[in-house]
Amino acid sequence: MKVTDHIKNANGKTLFSFEIVPPQKGKNIQELYNNITPLMEFNPPFIDVTTSREEYVYITRKDGLLERKITRMRPGTVGICAAIKHKFDVDTIPHVLCGGFTREETEYMLVDCHYLGIDNVMALRGDAMKHQRYFEPTEGGHCYANELVAQIKDLSSGHYLNEVIESENHADFCVGVAGYPEKHLESPSLETDLKKLKAKVDAGADYVVTQMFFNNKAYFEFVEKAKAIGINVPIIPGIKPIATKKHLQLLPHVFSIDLPEALIESVEACKTSAEVRKVGIDWAIQQSKELKAAGVPVLHYYSMGKSDNIKAIAEAVF
Ligand code: FAD
Repeated sequence: MKVTDHIKNANGKTLFSFEIVPPQKGKNIQELYNNITPLMEFNPPFIDVTTSREEYVYITRKDGLLERKITRMRPGTVGICAAIKHKFDVDTIPHVLCGGFTREETEYMLVDCHYLGIDNVMALRGDAMKHQRYFEPTEGGHCYANELVAQIKDLSSGHYLNEVIESENHADFCVGVAGYPEKHLESPSLETDLKKLKAKVDAGADYVVTQMFFNNKAYFEFVEKAKAIGINVPIIPGIKPIATKKHLQLLPHVFSIDLPEALIESVEACKTSAEVRKVGIDWAIQQSKELKAAGVPVLHYYSMGKSDNIKAIAEAVF
C-alpha cells in the first residue's frame, strides 16, 4: 500500500516507522531480522531500506602499484526489501539514488520493485563519493533528485526509457523525497533549498521525509515555510536518537545540523556509553511526544543497526 494511503487510513493517528541500513557484505540477514523483530509490535506500516552508493577499493598489484577497483560494500536494497516484506508482511521502501546509477540501472531496479509488489520508493540524489569534494553525477545518471522523481513517475505512466508499455498491471509508485529543516549542506539558503524541494514535489513526489533534527522548532518552521510556497504533501519528521559521544561532532559535520546546547551538555556529562544512549532516548521521547501532540502523520526513526533505543522510544510514545 502507498505511504499516502497508510496516512489517510490512519485518520489523524500518528504512525510509527523506521529505516534500516543494510549490513555490510559477509553478514547474515538474520542479524537484520533480529533488529526488526522487536519493533514490529508497534505496527510500522512501512520500513525504509537505505541504499549505499559504490566505493573504490585499492588492490596491490604484483608490481607493487595500487589498482583502483569499484565495489559495493552492502547487499542490494531491493533484495533486502523483498525479504523483509515477505517475512514481516509489511510494506518496504527501497531508497533509489542518482549517484552511482545510470538511468537504465534505475529502470531495472524499478522494474524489479514493481514485480515484487513494492508500491513506494524514496528518490534521493545521494552524496559525493568519499574522494570527491562535491557530488558528481554518474555518466548516464541524474544530477538531482527531481530528475529521478520524473523518471519514476514516467515509468509509472508506462513511459519507460526506450519504450512505452501499456499494461493493466502498470507500476504506480508513491514517491518520497528528502527535506532539510536546517537546509541541505550545499544550499545557499533555506529558501533556495525549499524551492528545490518544491521542484521535487512538482515533479510528482507524494511525500517528504526530513533529515534528522534535534530542535522541533526547526521542523515546525520548515513545515510552515513549505506550505507557504505550495508544498502540500505530508512532511514526515525524521528522528535520530544520539547513541554515542562521537555523535556530538559527527552529526553536525556530516549532516550540517545544529545540536541544542542542553542536549550537548547532557551528553558531555555522561560517564558511560549506556548513559549517553539513555540521554539520546530521553531527548527523542520528548521530541516525539511534542511532534505527536502536534499531529504529525508519521514519526520516522533512523535506526543505525541496533534497535533497542528505538524500541525504548516507541514504548514511551506509541
Ligand atoms: P537533491 O534534492 O537533488 O538536492 C541536492 C542539493 O542540490 C541541494 O542543496 C538542493 O538545494 C540542490 N538542488 C536540488 N535540485 C536542484 C536543481 N534542479 N538545480 C540546482 N540545485 C538543485 N543517501 C544515500 O546515499 N542513501 C540513502 O539511502 C539516503 N537516504 C536518505 C533518507 C533521507 C530521509 C534523507 C533526508 C537523506 C538521505 N540520504 C541518503 C542522503 C541524501 O542522499 C543526501 O542528503 C544528498 O546530499 C542530497 O540528496 P537529495 O535527494 O536531497 O538531493
